[in-house]
Amino acid sequence: MKKSVKDVDVKGKRVLVRVDFNVPMEGGRVTDDTRIRATLPTLQYLLDQGASVVLMSHLGRPDGKVKDELKLAPVARRLSDLLARPVESLADCVGTEVEQKVAALAPGQLALLENLRFHPEEEANDKGFAQQLARLGDVYVNDAFGAAHRAHASTAGVASYLPAVSGLLMQAEIDVIGQALEDPKRPFIAIIGGAKVSDKIGLLRNLIGKVDTLLIGGGMANTFLVAIGCQVGESLVERDKVSEARELIRLADSSAVQLILPRDVVVASAFANDAESKTVSCQQTPDGWRIMDIGPATVKQYSDIIITARTVVWNGPMGVYEMERFAEGTRGVGEAIAACTGVTIVGGGDAVAALERAGLAANVTHVSTGGGATLELLEGRVLPGVAALQDKE
Ligand code: AMP
Repeated sequence: MKKSVKDVDVKGKRVLVRVDFNVPMEGGRVTDDTRIRATLPTLQYLLDQGASVVLMSHLGRPDGKVKDELKLAPVARRLSDLLARPVESLADCVGTEVEQKVAALAPGQLALLENLRFHPEEEANDKGFAQQLARLGDVYVNDAFGAAHRAHASTAGVASYLPAVSGLLMQAEIDVIGQALEDPKRPFIAIIGGAKVSDKIGLLRNLIGKVDTLLIGGGMANTFLVAIGCQVGESLVERDKVSEARELIRLADSSAVQLILPRDVVVASAFANDAESKTVSCQQTPDGWRIMDIGPATVKQYSDIIITARTVVWNGPMGVYEMERFAEGTRGVGEAIAACTGVTIVGGGDAVAALERAGLAANVTHVSTGGGATLELLEGRVLPGVAALQDKE
């Protein structure tokens, strides 16, 4: 267990907080403030405790150069609206001027440093740069779960020079997902979909060692279907991963894990929402057609299993859910997860988007905010941004 912001005294201290304000922007305006809102519990807690707060984040990929369109001032304005108090936007993230400005902050005041990635030293995890950042606070809090799989100066390096603890968002992520993987209430069911097996091999291997049942859907199911001898027509298949899929099936078998593939599928004559489509058994994709979604019998079977679970992890859509006609499988699985009374964890942009679109996000235990970080945590990897934090005694 890692120490959190609640395990240290922050009253009257200057707290350097790494947040993930890597938000979508258009024409100098924040178009989706979900990530900013996700940090509010930590920030509000620090302000209530009488800390002054120095915020740091990256935005986009400026590759070590100053890019006007990737400056953080619009984010500071949005945060200021959300907190209903001023947030000073600084011109840089290190240096004498920045040090003077943050030294002048009174308890309850906030400043946002300029985009960390304007300096190449950030991504290089440069020691000197991490030390310069450390001069800006008395305590370091990492609440940027979405960046925790990167060993950068602001996510890992800086933790060597200050007392380092997790923020409340980071803590929720590592506690909920960690608990599910280490000591799950059973039955523990994982539903894994998405386009490609190749992106999910590490995840599947790790989960096979932990779950009771693994439900497979999405484009990646096609490679498994080929591995068991089904014809899949023009479906998305990774031919070079068929033997890997076979190996995963064997591994599940020898671990007494049920690995279940779609029994029926929705196929289409072309990759288009208005293509001709029909439901067929998983062995009967006609020549020239392609699998676009799991079928209704599979949705029913998966839902019946999900409902009985006491722990559920879901990553990746069951079909081409962006096209309304092939969104049923993903929606059905989302509904079952929302109806499940166990601990339900949903991660990955597509599954979260599908759940939000169906208005079901509030019905799951935990919606994970990290894309790559969530995946790496589920793969059983140690995230550098988490490893750098202090352990609880
Ligand atoms: P991922 O990024 O690996 O989670 O994959 C998400 C993408 O997988 C989405 O854009 C879906 O449209 C796509 N996908 C899901 N099922 C299929 C399928 N049967 N054929 C092709 N693409 C699919």
